[in-house]
Amino acid sequence: MSTPPQQHPAYGPAPGPGAYPQAPAPGPYHQAPASGPYQQPYHHAPGPAPCQICGAVPAAPVTVRGHQGMLVIMRFLKREGVFCRTCALASFRDMQADTMVLGWWGPLSVLITPFTLLANLGALSGIRRIPEPVAPGFRPPLDPGKPVFKRPAGILALIPMGLLGLAVFAFTVLLGIGLVTGGSHSADHPTLTVGSCARNDATWPEQDLAPESCDSSDAELRVTTPTDDSCAAGDYLAYLEYSEDGHTSLCLHRLKG
Ligand SMILES: [Zn+2]
Repeated sequence: MSTPPQQHPAYGPAPGPGAYPQAPAPGPYHQAPASGPYQQPYHHAPGPAPCQICGAVPAAPVTVRGHQGMLVIMRFLKREGVFCRTCALASFRDMQADTMVLGWWGPLSVLITPFTLLANLGALSGIRRIPEPVAPGFRPPLDPGKPVFKRPAGILALIPMGLLGLAVFAFTVLLGIGLVTGGSHSADHPTLTVGSCARNDATWPEQDLAPESCDSSDAELRVTTPTDDSCAAGDYLAYLEYSEDGHTSLCLHRLKG
């Protein structure tokens, strides 16, 4: 609002009285916002923000994390900002290598560190998508140095990571064995007790037995104890896994039909 009075005198004298009312009046007014174009390139330049560290473009938002375990206490580290590919790679490698050495030294840290390292691998895939710097910045970018596994830290870290991998592998195997052996016992099959009743949901001679109240019309079988290790004529021998300990023979006496 204060600009027109200033620009009027400036514009006014030059074109003379004729142009005075038309051109300058709307002119400066329209140019004031239009002189935005003057500022816009200026505003747009930081649009594709340059690297915070070296000023190079292109750059992109990057977050890399670190972890330090110190027996009881631990530190969560984070380096976050808009970085060019080179500076981001340097940050990733430093954080990753430090975490690989300093990350393991605590009971919780042993668990946190693998997740930190994995999260950084996710960040790395993002970093790899940043194009190489095209316009250099106001200072040289950080030195990315050697890849993590070509550093002593990365080589040392193979020991805890190998042990951890072994532990996870062993746990998975044990869990698998537990499911296989435990599963064939009571986990899959209900337990039948002598004197109770059951029904068979499968077709004989297959057995898919389920306990059933003896009063129920669905009860087909009564569970009995074998005499002299054999079941009475016409009775079935239940699969061993239906007994309480998984080793006892049980007979199934048909209630009907
Ligand atoms: Zn940079």
